[in-house]
Amino acid sequence: MDVEQRISNLLKLGKLRSTSVRKLVLKEFLEAGTTAISSYEIEKKFEDLDRITLYRTLKTFEEVGIIHQAVDVSGRSKYAICSEDCSTHQHEDHHAHFYCKKCEKTVCLDNVKIPRPNLPADFQLEDSQLVLSGVCGACR
Ligand SMILES: [Zn+2]
Ligand SMILES: [Zn+2]
Ligand SMILES: [Zn+2]
Repeated sequence: MDVEQRISNLLKLGKLRSTSVRKLVLKEFLEAGTTAISSYEIEKKFEDLDRITLYRTLKTFEEVGIIHQAVDVSGRSKYAICSEDCSTHQHEDHHAHFYCKKCEKTVCLDNVKIPRPNLPADFQLEDSQLVLSGVCGACR
């Protein structure tokens, strides 16, 4: 499946209208793959992209389960494309993220699952982040 096809599929799944900004931003995430990117990185790349529009686009994508947040060691939020199990109702991204101190990239570790904590019965878990850091394969 080519990128254009994947973009229109994802927009359809999220029941989102296809706009040039949405397509542009989604392309960035598809190309980044398991590497998380920040809104700042997208902003830098497309200088005429309005910041508010970009912010809203990211929020919308997050809400419908297209992208998820990946916080790095400094607490800065980045986003990465979700696996196919995410939906408007629930994200299923219970994996750890790895922050490389050399290239400063944050990557999804889909196979490293975050353990489910035993919370008090009346607590509702909405988000959990596990950030590992070190040196990635490409930098070693
Ligand atoms: Zn997700
Ligand atoms: Zn690295
Ligand atoms: Zn991730």
